[in-house]
Amino acid sequence: MTQAIDPALQNKIDHTVAVLRKIADEYSPAAFANSFGAEDMVLTDLIARHGINIGVFSLDTGRLPGETYELMHTSRERYAQTPITVYFPKAESVEHYVNEHGINGFYHSIEARKQCCRVRKLEPLARALAGQNSWVTGLRREQSTTRTEMQEQEWDAANGLNKFNPLLDWSEKEVWAYIKAEQLPYNALHDRHYPSIGCAPCTRAITVGEDIRAGRWWWENPDSKECGLHGASSSLQRPAGK
Ligand code: SF4
Repeated sequence: MTQAIDPALQNKIDHTVAVLRKIADEYSPAAFANSFGAEDMVLTDLIARHGINIGVFSLDTGRLPGETYELMHTSRERYAQTPITVYFPKAESVEHYVNEHGINGFYHSIEARKQCCRVRKLEPLARALAGQNSWVTGLRREQSTTRTEMQEQEWDAANGLNKFNPLLDWSEKEVWAYIKAEQLPYNALHDRHYPSIGCAPCTRAITVGEDIRAGRWWWENPDSKECGLHGASSSLQRPAGK
């Protein structure tokens, strides 16, 4: 059943669209990193619906859940006018990692886990961002303890470009209100208590009362639970002369 969009949410939608337009106008070329989470479906829809000139890409780590691949397929059909470019890790790097650490070596230590994320996510991300002036994420402030200090516009020092988080102040309820109102496709795992979805072996369902990112790398301390994609930004805007 569809839901109406209330004025407070409409204001946030209008603001997000304005930010996306500003990115396309002033920080081009720009690329949106789509991980097919609920927030990413909202941004994909807004970019496509308003014809905003922001490229969309996704990182296929090779370990994603089947449900994410199904959503990739559905999204490709629904948003045919907004192609989603997929980046894979380098085969030799994955071979090296698996031969050294084992197919599930990420469970053995935080360093082994971060090494897997570097091979399967960070290196492909660097390729996806090469030549871009800015990138866009679906991060929200309330998602985790590691994201409370984030800004809507940041300077991504690690990757050397502007980073925008246009859904930063959306609540989870607002994300879902938009998805329902516009009948967007979404990952079937969300209906099975997976609010945050990454690679299959590193994501599990949460129980009532748990933090929404408790199912990601659940064996680690909450303060280490980032894959490195979003860990190195500062709150500063682009430095002078860059
Ligand atoms: Fe590897 Fe898990 Fe990181 Fe995916 S989330 S890249 S499987 S350690």
